[in-house]
Amino acid sequence: MAKKPIVGFYGITGCAGCLLSVIFNEDEIVDIIKAVDIVAFPFIKSDNSKGPMDICFIEGTVVSLDDEKIVKELRERSKVVVALGTCACEGNIPAIRNYTDDKKLSKWLYKKNPQNQDTRTPKPIHEIIQVEYRLPGCPPDRDEVKRFIKDLLLNKTFRNVRSAVCVECKLNKNGCLLDNNLVCLGPITSGGCNAICPTHGLKCYGCRGLADDANFDEYFELLKSKKIKPTEVRKVMDTFMARAVDEKLKGTKWEKYH
Ligand code: SF4
Ligand code: SF4
Ligand code: SF4
Repeated sequence: MAKKPIVGFYGITGCAGCLLSVIFNEDEIVDIIKAVDIVAFPFIKSDNSKGPMDICFIEGTVVSLDDEKIVKELRERSKVVVALGTCACEGNIPAIRNYTDDKKLSKWLYKKNPQNQDTRTPKPIHEIIQVEYRLPGCPPDRDEVKRFIKDLLLNKTFRNVRSAVCVECKLNKNGCLLDNNLVCLGPITSGGCNAICPTHGLKCYGCRGLADDANFDEYFELLKSKKIKPTEVRKVMDTFMARAVDEKLKGTKWEKYH
């Protein structure tokens, strides 16, 4: 991009963790502010405009009519839209509402103001508007966000990591947690986080969403060979990728294990 790009950061229904992940250390944020013109960023600016802009980062899942209106408006005012984080890319945690009884939700959360309850199905933003780039993760990996911004500034095409977390795990020369009969979702999860969890002895919970070539048949069979029940695996999957896994397993023999 020849001139300083105009950039905005926005959040719909999420936890603000993705936006926080963009605030790097002081030196880096100063460099970024020098390189781009930020028109909106809730944690940095008090006067946030809605563009027009070159690049629009959106955090969160579309769970309400208000969210839908916001993303449509931002789309109209942006040349490039980036889904920031797994809520924006796949629905993630807010989409757990898809598995909750609306009546119970009403009783727990909307007792005093039932008119505020919006029962539409939570959706990732690409199901509402066109999205040019996705930066998954809960929250996204800071180094990947930096690489993305640098690539855009250098007019280079950003490419997501396509391989599963296991590839980076093996490159880090880690032992495999599956050998200890732990449910690690590395084989079916998109890489790009440098396998940070297994590298520190923690199982991968799939926070970056499903890998493009996730092979569920092989994965479930492998875990079954280790005496791990598919229902147990689905419970772990439900943390970050319930909606995506549900769609993928519809009509397969694994659908019933939920
Ligand atoms: S992806 Fe994770 S960190 Fe980002 S808004 Fe959603 S829950 Fe928060
Ligand atoms: S520990 Fe997890 S991420 Fe690492 S190789 Fe084993 S299954 Fe894959
Ligand atoms: S290892 Fe798994 S849970 Fe951990 S950051 Fe990477 S994708 Fe997320």
